[in-house]
Amino acid sequence: MMAVAPVSISKDLVTALERAAWRAHPNEACALLLGHQSAACMEISQVAITENVTQADPQLTFEVDPTMHILLQKAARVGGPAIVGVWHSHPCGKAIPSEADKARSIEPGWIWLISADAPDGMTHAAFRAGEDDARQFCQVPLLMNDS
Ligand SMILES: [Zn+2]
Repeated sequence: MMAVAPVSISKDLVTALERAAWRAHPNEACALLLGHQSAACMEISQVAITENVTQADPQLTFEVDPTMHILLQKAARVGGPAIVGVWHSHPCGKAIPSEADKARSIEPGWIWLISADAPDGMTHAAFRAGEDDARQFCQVPLLMNDS
């Protein structure tokens, strides 16, 4: 049941992510997702947009800023919102995890939100990394709510 629990995010946060994707184009943009698991769904309450600090080709992959990641982990330990996943854009691709994404998914249960910047508009999709094998992604419904 956990595997198909939807992810919910406000349209305002989606707009912020879209702006970050456009700013980074043609490179991938990225963010950490903060929120909490409620009975019905995984609620994304904040997005922490970071630089894409990958040492590889930023048009093909991403790496969130590790300094931001550590700061947010520390904040979560003292009552801040939990890091529940990661977002990134695919500037010219589809909103599905690439082979590179699968290979570097190490956090069990993380939400992977992906935005694809297609010529006819941006599409968004959510996936959950497996609890036993984080490289196994399962698509979950994405609810975009008025805030
Ligand atoms: Zn990707």
